Amino acid sequence: MKLKKNLVAATMLAGSMTALSFLSAGTAQAQGALVMYCGVQEEWCRAMVGAFERDTGVKVSMTRKSSGEIFAQIKAESANPRADIWWGGTGDPHMQAAEEGLTVEYKSPKMSELQDWAVRQWEQSKQRTVGIYSGALGFGYNTELAKTNNVPELKCWADLLKPELKDEVQVADPNSSGTAYTLLATIVQIMGEDKGFEYLKALHKNVNQYTKSGAAPAKAVAQGETTAGITFMHDMVTMVVDKAPIKVVAPCEGTGYEIGSMSIVKGAKNLENAKKFYDWALTADAQKIGAEAKSYQVPSNKSTPVPPQAPKLTDIKLINFDFAKYGSSEERKRLLSKWDNEVKNLP
Ligand code: PLP
Repeated sequence: MKLKKNLVAATMLAGSMTALSFLSAGTAQAQGALVMYCGVQEEWCRAMVGAFERDTGVKVSMTRKSSGEIFAQIKAESANPRADIWWGGTGDPHMQAAEEGLTVEYKSPKMSELQDWAVRQWEQSKQRTVGIYSGALGFGYNTELAKTNNVPELKCWADLLKPELKDEVQVADPNSSGTAYTLLATIVQIMGEDKGFEYLKALHKNVNQYTKSGAAPAKAVAQGETTAGITFMHDMVTMVVDKAPIKVVAPCEGTGYEIGSMSIVKGAKNLENAKKFYDWALTADAQKIGAEAKSYQVPSNKSTPVPPQAPKLTDIKLINFDFAKYGSSEERKRLLSKWDNEVKNLP
């Protein structure tokens, strides 16, 4: 009798557990999932995921990679896309993806809240990518190492060719890194293609390593592993905020800048949640998360306060960066393969 009672209780328990798991599966399904490829610093990616999950209940699976790597992955997966949303990283591979039909058009109700440069990015890509932040390219150097090695004050792109900096400059590889591609496109726009490639070849003599990620040289400068590093200025500022002895430089010849971007992947399996994230990521509140995670770009929502640490774009000699040309599939492929052939493989 007791055995039978226990059996009934166990059956009831099992039944209610099934009902519970059915219910929770139902709830999870109601909120759904989102697969995100994230192109900024890991800390900011994780903070965005946490806040979005809290605000919406959607479960996010996030992978962090550099801009060019995400582009290559989305292209490789295009027959059976894994990602739904591509958030962050420089605009050039987002533009290339738009042109190659790897991402889809979307008009967010938040568009009216954005800066003109963010909307222009969206228009130029035929509504397939939108600006989420902006920041200027520059470099930084470790003032203590510079003093020890008698490196004079560095102010200009030309100064990075000084013999005192032999093997003392670090920058990323433009194939994987949007930061380094921005450098390539910037130098070509400032100096013209022939002189620009002469400059990059001369710079190569001082480069100790082409890193995969664009922000890695900032950390290396902070840790005294290299005297100078070429990155977005805000990536150096992150190190300065953490008390690294770094001077951040806006090069005297002028410099390029990025429009960090966001796109929805074509064939996204969680399309509605991709749109939900897209709208949310353009809100003033979501854009405050960057500065909280020590990323000091200029946000694209006009109501998000510009972090006081962010390098002021109005104080920097910015070139008239041609995003359409340097984000085009043909030009990006051509410049990258020229850089591989003429610069990277030099002794
Ligand atoms: N992290 C930050 C903070 C950035 O501003 C950017 C540029 O969009 C990136 C990462 C892009 O990194 P990568 O040069 O590795 O593509």
